[in-house]
Amino acid sequence: MIIEKTTSPIKVGVLGFGGLGQAAAKVLAPKAEMKLVVVADHQGYVYDSAGLNIDAAISIYRDRHSVGYLAQNGTLSSNSIQDVIKNAAVDGYFLALPNLPNTFMADVAKQFIQSGWQGVLVDALKRTSAVEQLLELQSDLQQAGITYLTGCGATPGLLTAAAAVAAQSYAEIHSVKITFGVGIANWEAYRATIREDIAHMPGYNVETARAMTDQEVAMLLDKTDGIISLENMEHADDIMLELAGICSRDRVTVGGVVDTRNPKKPLSTNVKITGRTFEGKISTHTFTLGDETSMAANVCGPAFGYLKAGMALNCRGITGLFTAAEIMPQFVK
Ligand code: NAD
Repeated sequence: MIIEKTTSPIKVGVLGFGGLGQAAAKVLAPKAEMKLVVVADHQGYVYDSAGLNIDAAISIYRDRHSVGYLAQNGTLSSNSIQDVIKNAAVDGYFLALPNLPNTFMADVAKQFIQSGWQGVLVDALKRTSAVEQLLELQSDLQQAGITYLTGCGATPGLLTAAAAVAAQSYAEIHSVKITFGVGIANWEAYRATIREDIAHMPGYNVETARAMTDQEVAMLLDKTDGIISLENMEHADDIMLELAGICSRDRVTVGGVVDTRNPKKPLSTNVKITGRTFEGKISTHTFTLGDETSMAANVCGPAFGYLKAGMALNCRGITGLFTAAEIMPQFVK
């Protein structure tokens, strides 16, 4: 069993086929070590154990809003996640799903636990309170034989992991400051991401943002010229760095600017890690992402890197919940 998993491509599923889900499919297309066999959206799914036709899936989703309409292997379903878990043979899933309501991802994790499925799950969750719900499932995940890696996008994810590595120069960590810049051409390409960002704006919360119609979102963005500026966000980078033993969560801050009308980043995404060395010097390491890298590249790349790392753990019988700050992602070829 172990030999088979390390020699043949990892069979991957992507749940959620919006902005990130589709980018994830494109990221996987040229990979030899992973094969995308199933994707699901809220109206259906497409499964082919030989590997999906990614272009066909993306074009039917664009035209008809569900991969379930695909003539070949597409299935319409109002319970697509449950159906996929039951019908598809998959080693690991990237959960590119909206976390709306804020309990949604934990509910999906429970569905996997209850189904008896075993393998690797990776998410790109953002809120601290969402990761806290998963922590409560730690022993259930372990017993179920599931290796679950949470917070494996860009922030949390790539930047949190970079902070954990950078912290090693110091004897004490004073602050971790994450500032992100995101540029997207139109908000409709990433509806859940933008709604979840609006939920951090003053006067909004997850429930009010979730209840907004697309027209209401567009009207709000008209008022702000398409810009969402955020500071002191509830972001799981804090709990992840605390759990990894780097620093207490109150030393971690996250904020940023999202431009929903321009793919150019409004500012360079970076993380600054300030601390004291063993010699008593105070210093700051800065890790800055290249401006040409999109949000999709910085989320989907790490997500699959963590999925590969999760497979290695799972094959060794190591199950349960891990965060992007405790595991080193592997590079998917
Ligand atoms: P989106 O709105 O573009 O797409 C969501 C997809 O999920 C759609 O295909 C929809 O049909 C599907 N879906 C919704 N409910 C479903 C259900 N019950 N069953 C099956 N499918 C369902 O979303 P997006 O903008 O790609 O964002 C996805 C998630 O990624 C969000 O939670 C967002 O916050 C997160 N994200 C994380 C980071 C990070 O750095 N950690 C960055 C960006 C986005």
